[in-house]
Amino acid sequence: MWKLKIILPVLAALAIFILTQVYIVRQVWKQKDEVFSLKYRSESREAIHEMATFDPYNGFKKAYFIIDDISRLYLQKKKALLNPVDSVIFAQNLRESYTKILSEDQILSEYLSKYFDKLGLENKIKPLIYVNYIDLIDIQDNIRVYKAPLRELNNQQSGKSILVYTFNSEGNNYKIAFDYYIDIANKERTILRELSLTLILGILSFGIICAIFIATLRNYLEEKRLSNLKTDFINNMTHELKTPLSTITVAGKTLKHESVIGNREKIKETADMIGKQSLHLNEFINLILEISMWERTQFQVDRKETGVEDLLKDIAGNFRNGCGEDCKFTEHYDLKGARAEIDDLYFTTMITNLLNNAVKYSRNTAEIHLEAFSDENGINIKVADKGIGISRSEQKNIFDKFYRVSTGNIHESKGLGLGLYYVRKIAEAHGGSVRVSSRKGKGSVFIVSIPKTT
Ligand code: ADP
Repeated sequence: MWKLKIILPVLAALAIFILTQVYIVRQVWKQKDEVFSLKYRSESREAIHEMATFDPYNGFKKAYFIIDDISRLYLQKKKALLNPVDSVIFAQNLRESYTKILSEDQILSEYLSKYFDKLGLENKIKPLIYVNYIDLIDIQDNIRVYKAPLRELNNQQSGKSILVYTFNSEGNNYKIAFDYYIDIANKERTILRELSLTLILGILSFGIICAIFIATLRNYLEEKRLSNLKTDFINNMTHELKTPLSTITVAGKTLKHESVIGNREKIKETADMIGKQSLHLNEFINLILEISMWERTQFQVDRKETGVEDLLKDIAGNFRNGCGEDCKFTEHYDLKGARAEIDDLYFTTMITNLLNNAVKYSRNTAEIHLEAFSDENGINIKVADKGIGISRSEQKNIFDKFYRVSTGNIHESKGLGLGLYYVRKIAEAHGGSVRVSSRKGKGSVFIVSIPKTT
């Protein structure tokens, strides 16, 4: 839930950032597009101006000539038309045919292309003629045959084509006005090229912000996890300290009781209890001191070449004695006399931790199997149980400091979440590693691997 509380604002901030970036890029694109069109329009007008000095028809002389010629024929046809529907079709046909005639006259387009080329601009252009109106002229009257609808006109202008010039021409039999547009090939690509720096900067800043967000979030989550673990640890430690202390307090009160003062048997029993609990307290405090010492100084191991099988048998023997009737304990060794550089004390702590956990995390009678074998990679020691098991998601955390599998802070079984952390540390200090394979409810297998000397 709290993760969601952090992640949601972060996602919202990222979304706002992306939208702003997209908006900025779009605005810049629009501006670049306008500047692009403006440049080509003004250069085209310059060219048309220049051309007008030697060609008053702006390259459309041939087209005007044809138009004038056929306008006379069209005028005849127009006069013969009776109904208005035919008139509309007639106007459309007229427009199409004049547009075609004008479009086929490529002199201006070729001139513009050369002109652009000279300026180092994009020279691949596609001309577009858009007729605004056509009047057919009779001697007596002037008939407007076609007039471009306003909406269509606006559509054209807002498109990607660049309006260069509106030409007007008048002959004996016609009057025409048409827009001359050009489409520049590679317009988008050219703008994109100009925009690439903005885009790269946008993507880069997005990447940096994402990286910062992720790093901050990860740090925060790690801090939070450590703080949770510390709270758990303090709770568990308090729990561990309180139990023997309250037993000692109760025992002290018992000793003061009239009925106990004269009862030697009872006094001895209570004193034994106080002694046992003080010993437990002492061991516990020593453990904490040891931990803090391990933390302050580097993990120092004093390794000597040792026969692994003998050492393991010693550890197993002690464990079997301590475990008594509560566990079914089996052993199997296939070490072929393998030896390894080992610190006896730490190694014993490591294997004992695993064996104790196997008892601690089994429900009824613990069924534990200790197995050791040697292969070409080194020595492998397996501690297997049929206990409560560990879910897959927890398996990656159990070797972390203070980590305990639990739903609450205080656990059914005592512990500080340090046993496996030290198993890992000790295995690593021996140049080895530890791994677990487990299924919830089925049991666990811990495997320690260390290098061998022979
Ligand atoms: P502690 O036993 O003090 O909680 P450990 O570091 O030894 O701390 O173990 C960490 C956690 O791993 C334990 O809280 C327990 O949930 C789980 N665990 C360890 N060994 C076993 C095991 N053999 N079977 C099931 N769970 C285990």
